[in-house]
Amino acid sequence: MQQNYQDAMAMVRKFSKPHLFLTFTCNPSWSETLNSMEGVQRPEDRPDIIRGFPHAHILLTLDSESKIRTKDDIDKFVSAELPDPCTDLRLFQIVTKCMVHGPCGTININSPCMRDGQCSKSFPKQFKNDTEENVNGYPIYRRRATEPVQVGKYSIYNRWVVPYNPLLLKKFNAHINVEVCASVKSVKYLYKYVYKGHDAASDKIQKEGALDHDEILSFVEGRYVSAPEAMWRLNEFNLSHKSHTVVRLAVYLPHQQPIVYQDGQEAQSTERAALRRTTLTSRCITFQQACQEYGLLRGDQHWHDALNEAAQFQSPRQLCMLSAMICGFGEVEDVPDLWVQHQVSLCEDFVHRYSEQTGPHYALADIEELLISYNLSLQKLHLPTVDLPASVLERANFDVVEEQAKANSYTMQFNSEQRNVVEILLSAVYNNAADTPKCYF
Ligand SMILES: [Zn+2]
Repeated sequence: MQQNYQDAMAMVRKFSKPHLFLTFTCNPSWSETLNSMEGVQRPEDRPDIIRGFPHAHILLTLDSESKIRTKDDIDKFVSAELPDPCTDLRLFQIVTKCMVHGPCGTININSPCMRDGQCSKSFPKQFKNDTEENVNGYPIYRRRATEPVQVGKYSIYNRWVVPYNPLLLKKFNAHINVEVCASVKSVKYLYKYVYKGHDAASDKIQKEGALDHDEILSFVEGRYVSAPEAMWRLNEFNLSHKSHTVVRLAVYLPHQQPIVYQDGQEAQSTERAALRRTTLTSRCITFQQACQEYGLLRGDQHWHDALNEAAQFQSPRQLCMLSAMICGFGEVEDVPDLWVQHQVSLCEDFVHRYSEQTGPHYALADIEELLISYNLSLQKLHLPTVDLPASVLERANFDVVEEQAKANSYTMQFNSEQRNVVEILLSAVYNNAADTPKCYF
C-alpha cells in the first residue's frame, strides 16, 4: 500500500494533482445479476452474488484544456441535487435509487455510516444557493432548498444527494460518486480507503440449547472472501491499476545495498553483490551523475559559458587563473574537454611569444603553477603534463620548449663518448658543490 501510494505521488509530481475522484459501485439491479435470479428471487436474496460486489475508486488528472477552473465548470460536470422528473425521468430514477445517502442521523440512527451519533460522511449537508470552490481541497456543491421528494418511507431533500455526473449515471445506471478535488488529500484517502483491510466476519457454531459462551472464540477473526472477490482473485485480475508505469529504484547509501545469502556463503555473496549493478547504480555511478540525470546539473556548460564570456575581455593570464580556479572549486566533470575547447584563448599570449607548437606547453605550465594552491596538478586533472619549472619560465627570454626539443634531438645523434662528455659537463653546470671541478680539457 505504501509503495502504491508512493507510485501515485510520483505521478502527482509529474502530472499535477488529480482533478476528479470517482467511486463506482456495481448496481445489483443490472441485468447480469437479475438474469442469475431463480424464480421470484430478488438480488438481496442472493448474498452469494451481491455481497462484496466489485467497486472502483478512480483518480483522474485532466489535461490543461479540460481542467475544471470555475464554479460554473463544477456545476456543469457535477451535481448534488435531485433532477426534475418532468425533464429527465430516467436520471431522476437513477439518482433517487443510487445517489441518495442514508438517510442517517436522527431519522435513522442505525445507518452503517453512523459513528458516535454522527454521520461519518457528514450528511445531511447544508443547503447552499451557489457552489463554492475549494474549501479544504473539495468544493461545496450547490444544494438549493427545493421541495422534497418521497423516496421509500423518507422525504428527501437535496441535502442527502451524493454528488454525481448526469452523463455517467445515465450511461452506467449505478452508484457513481464524482467529486472535484483540488488537493493531494484524495490520493492519500484513496490508498487509506481502498486498502482498509480484507472483509472479516465473526461466526459461532453452537449446539442447540447449550450455553457455551467462549469470549475468545467469538472474537477470532475470520477472513470473508465473497464470491465476486474470489472470482476476481482466481482470475488474477489487478486490484489496482495506474495509467503510467512507475519504476521503483532501490535507494540505499553507498555499499549498503541489501544482500541475500545462504548460510556459509556470506563472502561469495558479498563479492558478487559488489560487482552486480542494482537499479540505482545501473543508471548512475556517482551522486553527481544522479544529480545530472535529475536535471540539477547541466554538465560543464556553465563553466564553458563562463570561460567564453571571460575570453572576450580578460587577458590569457587572467583566463589561466580563472580556469585553474574553476578546476579547483567548480566540480568540473570533464577537465580535459574544458582545456581542449578553450585552449586557443588560454594559449594566445604564449603562441604569440613562442610558437603554435610550443605555446600550449607554457599555458599548461602556467596553469599547473596556479593549481598547486588548490592541491591539484595537471596529472590529477588528467591534463597533458609538461616539464617546465616555473623558475625557468620567468627568466627565459627564449623558447625553452623549443630549445629542449632541439637538445633532445641532438642528444640522439651523439656517440657514446660524446654522450659521456656531455653528461659530465651538464652535471658540473647543475651541481654547485664547491669541490666540483669547473674546468675541463
Ligand atoms: Zn450518513
